[in-house]
Amino acid sequence: MKEHIYTIPVIDAFNDKGECPFCNMYKKLEEESVDYILGPAYMTDTIRLETDKTGFCKHHIKQMYKNQNRLGVALMLHTHLKKINSDLETESQSFTAQKAKRAFFKKNAETNNNISSYLNNITNSCYVCNRITETFERYIDTFFYMWENKPEIKDYIKNSKGFCLEHFSLLLEKGEKELSKSNYTEFCGIILPLEKENLKRLEDEIEWFINKFDYKYKDEPWKTSKDALPRAIEKIISTIIEEEENV
Ligand SMILES: [Zn+2]
Ligand SMILES: [Zn+2]
Repeated sequence: MKEHIYTIPVIDAFNDKGECPFCNMYKKLEEESVDYILGPAYMTDTIRLETDKTGFCKHHIKQMYKNQNRLGVALMLHTHLKKINSDLETESQSFTAQKAKRAFFKKNAETNNNISSYLNNITNSCYVCNRITETFERYIDTFFYMWENKPEIKDYIKNSKGFCLEHFSLLLEKGEKELSKSNYTEFCGIILPLEKENLKRLEDEIEWFINKFDYKYKDEPWKTSKDALPRAIEKIISTIIEEEENV
């Protein structure tokens, strides 16, 4: 099984601590992918053909825009727009033809309009998302490979703070497919109590965070609640928010 070459990034993500090791993996992959696309990659013909076709999602286009390489973003968007304009020309011709046909037959015939289908496809695809997903799936496979072949992963899991909701759900689903019946039972027996315990911990941390806004608790210590809000956000929506310096 070749998945073991990914064991290092999986272990690194558990060592990075935080509310979800899989969010750590995702964030690292995202940073690497944005750097990659704004590095020499966008000058490569095969990659440009791909980015011209898929484009980028809202989130990643913003990340790329914030990067220093504005010329790189402009070059990519230029050929992406060129492709859209050329495709739209073709799509609009068949749209007009379909429209004429519809008007001839039935007033409210149910057909998908091809321009919207084409545009929905483009607005829902992203080169960076695709690149992340491909490697992220390998990480998930590696994680389950480790569960069955490298028992030390169990200690990493037990010492973690559980997972965000999305990745916890993904582990339950994927685990059922990837693990043997007895391994899956053991797996659930560890991650389910761990997740419940950590969600309860966060609930308490947020409660203390709220209490700190009450003058009665003004002089009490923050305990572990100072950065509880970004951590709770990560747990719930799988997005790592950089810790604020001053609360
Ligand atoms: Zn996560
Ligand atoms: Zn994306």
